[in-house]
Amino acid sequence: MPDPVPTAPRPRSNLWFESRYRKLQRGLPQTVFFCPKCKGDRRRKHDCPECKGFGKLTRESVQELIARRLVPAFGAKYGVFHGAGREDIDVLMLGRGRPFVFEVQGARNPDVDLEALRAEIVQRAAGQIELAPFVRVPRARVAYWKETHFDKVYRAEVACERMPTAAAIAAAAGFAGTVVQRTPQRVAHRRADLDRPRRLQVLALAPSGESTLELRVLCQHGTYVKEWISGDEGRTTPSLAGLLDVPSRCTVLDVEEIMTDDVPGPRLPAAPAEA
Ligand SMILES: [Zn+2]
Repeated sequence: MPDPVPTAPRPRSNLWFESRYRKLQRGLPQTVFFCPKCKGDRRRKHDCPECKGFGKLTRESVQELIARRLVPAFGAKYGVFHGAGREDIDVLMLGRGRPFVFEVQGARNPDVDLEALRAEIVQRAAGQIELAPFVRVPRARVAYWKETHFDKVYRAEVACERMPTAAAIAAAAGFAGTVVQRTPQRVAHRRADLDRPRRLQVLALAPSGESTLELRVLCQHGTYVKEWISGDEGRTTPSLAGLLDVPSRCTVLDVEEIMTDDVPGPRLPAAPAEA
């Protein structure tokens, strides 16, 4: 009997899978929400007063809910989540969901039942996220989603200091045009302080309570919707609050749809030049 041929360890490879996530729970960040004080550093987090040794500020993220099952399924140790943009932590991601590519680094086992894996991730996520079927894609899809920008439809609840006049609501409901947004204070620490023109079109605006309005708005990529609603102390003009002539703020915000090429629906007219 000849000796059995020694089996070489299976080669490792990198794999890319595309899907779209719907985020159905507020307070869930897209990626790991590291503690701003210790940055999740293994040694520094131990006596960090900010996160009490946890290293991050939320238990879960979309990234972790996916990576936790997906990475081991491929016999890999590492994965990278590449989202096509991101929504704020308190904003739901509805409609067909936000595209992303999940990169599996060093996969030893490429033969995975993607549909069973997706079902398991969604089931374990217990209502926090839903996923479109995974499709294996070439690496170039990461750059495509990073570099391509899409209009978005948002749904917002707007709290007004008092109910605006019917005429003001009607005028604001017909707004379509360009607004100029100076970098909001809340992101000024990581974005250059600039005036950015952004196109948007109000799709619907109607009273929803004693002094509240429900808004649907189609926005160019990069629009700060909360700031457009409030005016951000004069940093965004014109603003919804300005059009209504009543101090107003966004209390609830959802991304209703990201208008990727395959999604039917309204589009903003092409702009002469983009900032
Ligand atoms: Zn910390």
